[in-house]
Amino acid sequence: MRVINLSSGSDGNLTYIESENARIIVDDGLSCKETENRLSLLGIGGGQLDGIVVTHEHTDHIKGINNFSKKYDIPVYAHNKVWASGLGDKLEKVSEKNRKIFTDAFAIKDLVIDPVEVPHDVKCFGFSISEDDKKISIVTDLGHTTDEIYNKIKGSQLVYLEANHDISMLRNCEKYPLSLRMRIAGKNGHLSNDASEQMIEKLVTSGTRQIVLAHLSKENNSPEFAFNYITKILSSHGFNEGEGFRIDVALTEPTTLFKIKNDKK
Ligand SMILES: [Zn+2]
Ligand SMILES: [Zn+2]
Repeated sequence: MRVINLSSGSDGNLTYIESENARIIVDDGLSCKETENRLSLLGIGGGQLDGIVVTHEHTDHIKGINNFSKKYDIPVYAHNKVWASGLGDKLEKVSEKNRKIFTDAFAIKDLVIDPVEVPHDVKCFGFSISEDDKKISIVTDLGHTTDEIYNKIKGSQLVYLEANHDISMLRNCEKYPLSLRMRIAGKNGHLSNDASEQMIEKLVTSGTRQIVLAHLSKENNSPEFAFNYITKILSSHGFNEGEGFRIDVALTEPTTLFKIKNDKK
């Protein structure tokens, strides 16, 4: 299984995943052209994709889907609740036959995609995605974590986990009106570095070896700040980055390509 984040954050989210037989992307928040450009870095043409799996209806997750799905005749998979709550109207160029509805775990060829609802200000889902006993998870756009989310993603070798903002930077951010700051910090907003750190402790305790901090705010976080802040708290709690687990940061540009192997020692 190979996984790479091609863009992360409010300017657009796009993750490419391939197994032996399947090639999918999770979300497509870049333009159609830019999506083509970034897939071409991997030698992948748009027509080679087996599906686009969508977390939720926000523009940073769906911007390219209308044109991309139409141009290449690619099926778009989203949870019934996400289609019903507004995605259906926004993806008006996706043909009827390419609108794929799921309510539970489903397969695209040899990839099994298992959704878990996450608390956001619109209906939103994270995913665990497996090929045989290889498993990765993508969880962004959530105001807080829940046991249900942890139970779904534990056992993943790799987790893309939101680390959106530093709480005090957000509180003092003069560029954002109070209402926006409250929305982001709220129970259905975005995950803070502190909340992300707490989930990372649980994940690495249960065997996850690779975390990628994702969906960072440009205003209220930075890749260096998030990495340093989170690894410092982790090490003060006895979890040292580089000793049994690694932390990377997903950027607005393509980052590390991970090759997920069977986890048997
Ligand atoms: Zn988002
Ligand atoms: Zn969102």
